[in-house]
Amino acid sequence: MKQAFVYKLRPTRKQEQALEDTLETCRHLYNACLGERKQAWAQRQERLSFAKQCATLPERKQTSPHLPLVHSQVLQDVLHRVQRSYDHFFRRLKQQKEKPGFPRFKGRGGYDSFTYPQWGNGVGFKEGRLCLSRIGLLRICSDRPLQGDPKTCTIRRRADGWYACIVCAVAPAPLPLTGESIGLDVGLENFATLSTGKQTPNPRLLRRAERRLKTAQRRLSRRKKGSRNRAKARVLLAKAHLKVQRARLDFCHKVAHDLLDRFDTLAVEKLNIKGMLKNHPLAKSIADVGWGTFLSVLKRKAERAVRSVVEVDPRYTSQICSGCGESVPKKLSVRWHACPYCGLEAHRGTNAALNIKRKGGVTAFGETATLVAV
Ligand SMILES: [Zn+2]
Repeated sequence: MKQAFVYKLRPTRKQEQALEDTLETCRHLYNACLGERKQAWAQRQERLSFAKQCATLPERKQTSPHLPLVHSQVLQDVLHRVQRSYDHFFRRLKQQKEKPGFPRFKGRGGYDSFTYPQWGNGVGFKEGRLCLSRIGLLRICSDRPLQGDPKTCTIRRRADGWYACIVCAVAPAPLPLTGESIGLDVGLENFATLSTGKQTPNPRLLRRAERRLKTAQRRLSRRKKGSRNRAKARVLLAKAHLKVQRARLDFCHKVAHDLLDRFDTLAVEKLNIKGMLKNHPLAKSIADVGWGTFLSVLKRKAERAVRSVVEVDPRYTSQICSGCGESVPKKLSVRWHACPYCGLEAHRGTNAALNIKRKGGVTAFGETATLVAV
């Protein structure tokens, strides 16, 4: 299984220029190859393949002053990206749900990463630094040691600097079995409610970062188009976005780690894509985004820890009584579940989490009702 390790880079000014130049060369190559594919299709209904375009690389290198300055496997990876965007396009075309957009040309600043697809070939560690072919020895900030077998390395430009993402093949590291299982319900006022009745609140740090994001958004919209101040405001907004992203990811990792430590089986709500597309309250959409991030972190970590995550259909989980299975309809504003049939009393979230746990095949109706104490 694969795991990504991300490190911030500390390039010198000269190296930073080389990184920028590499991105720009890759972007030009990407656009050129995309254009040729478009043309071949429009003029001769011919589908250019990856292999065919790859074969043109040596010739291109002879005529371009920039291409020879980039490692050849990095250039090949650019062609892979063209291929992938084409594959996506044809897949969308086949699905015929909506008219798919043709793969787009990348504008200046719209292309922000390049990949060394094979560790050891143009990329590796040397003297405690990251050695990139044609760029140099780059200092890295490393607080987490690499694990497993490095496979690929992607260099990415972000609002606050350069990063290396090293993908490694790692072996599973099973956690000791605990014999315990749990159900989780996503909420609006809380991030999640466990079937034990425990609630995980939304982190204050994240809320603060989100407030800053809103301020930055307002600032940008006030600035005049094309002005220097607008460009500055855009950088600040991008940084605020990064902050929110990181704070959320951090939080997700912590919660997932804690849960995987204690439970063998976790029943969770499947992300409701259809519901997300429908016009529903903003707060719920934000909760959904957070839940999506959490699910992907949880699933990845669970795979490594050999724990099972069961995704269940979340419909009716808050309406059905987890004690007896009768339907007890209630509006979203009703936060308490009081069953007139069996007398079960529980927080709305706890009742839903118990239903999710049951749907995950872990327990039956009423079995865990004794746990319900808020
Ligand atoms: Zn009941």
